[in-house]
Amino acid sequence: PETITVQELANRMAARVPDVVKSLMKLGVMATATQSIDADTAEIVVEEFGHKSKRVSEGDVEIGLEGVVDADADMRTRPPVVTIMGHVDHGKTSLLDALRSTSVAAGEAGGITQHIGAYQVTLPSGERMTFIDTPGHEAFTAMRARGAQVTDIVVLVVAADDGVMPQTIEAIRHAKAANVPIIVAINKIDRPDANPTRVRSELLQYDIAVEEMGGETQDVEVSALKREGLDRLQEAILLQAEILDLKANPDRSAEGAVIESRLDRGRGPVATILVQKGTLKQGDIVVAGTEQGRVRAMLDEHGKPVTSAGPSVPVEILGMSGVPSAGEAFVVVEDEGRAREIAEFRQRRLRETNAVAGAAARGTLDQMLA
Ligand code: GDP
Ligand code: MG
Repeated sequence: PETITVQELANRMAARVPDVVKSLMKLGVMATATQSIDADTAEIVVEEFGHKSKRVSEGDVEIGLEGVVDADADMRTRPPVVTIMGHVDHGKTSLLDALRSTSVAAGEAGGITQHIGAYQVTLPSGERMTFIDTPGHEAFTAMRARGAQVTDIVVLVVAADDGVMPQTIEAIRHAKAANVPIIVAINKIDRPDANPTRVRSELLQYDIAVEEMGGETQDVEVSALKREGLDRLQEAILLQAEILDLKANPDRSAEGAVIESRLDRGRGPVATILVQKGTLKQGDIVVAGTEQGRVRAMLDEHGKPVTSAGPSVPVEILGMSGVPSAGEAFVVVEDEGRAREIAEFRQRRLRETNAVAGAAARGTLDQMLA
């Protein structure tokens, strides 16, 4: 049977045990901290506390911190979030640079010094898309392992003179495992030895059938070097985004994921985050993993201060208590006390998990030495 102790339930909600006991009494359930209650009752309590609950596995009730359930009527189209993947030297960085230069905002910023590992491109039509350029393949996997799904679309770069290579195959596996649609960018089309047809047929072996091969995967020939085909690549991204029907409610407290973070000598902990739901505002109190804090300042990809950031917008935030890990979810909470409570609870749980892992490791060592 699915059960959870009152203590554990309180912990998960970062609530006080007596409050949980009181809530149970109202339901006619008498229980002390160490007693177990069934998952159905737990779910009711969770909702009483203004959380959303989700049963992730037998006996495991996951508590969402957000009390917000979005109504369909509040959902608005949001820009797609794109990650570029592919084999080393096939032109990922070059393509990101080339795409960045097409943004009307890039012109305004004069020269394009990028400060964070993600940026938005605003096309002359006003349409926007977000590119994340930190996740190499490993970061992508690490983020997914933490449950963060930040990417809507993968652009798979394959050099037309080199074809499908080991990291191309790896990228395909990652995208498929994450259930993220792929757009193939056949790069270096300017080279005399470019053979895009070979790329298309090689991809068939990995279950990527582009349109010309009778499939549905979009492919675009580009030259990052000569800045050719970028408009068609962006059209393909927008078309894919339309098919995905990407939406979020901008009028609610923000939620999203940490993309990268570091400790800055002068500014303290700095985190680049991607807003996925709602709008993040300067002064908001956020919790990200085991860290929390008030957003003291927000900067866009050009290092310009901004006061708010809506869905699919990447921003750098200052004011966290420490450096949260990439892939960690962040959420805005109502007050600082609650933020600290949640962060401390998670720190405690992390220490416990580490202690258990340590004990297990020691156990095996003891066995080995015995
Ligand atoms: P990454 O390792 O995938 O990030 O690849 P880079 O962007 O660093 O590019 C690797 C090399 O390929 C560099 O020397 C680039 O100048 C070159 N390169 C990138 N795109 C093109 C292209 O469209 N045409 C040609 N001829 N060279 C390119
Ligand atoms: Mg690179």
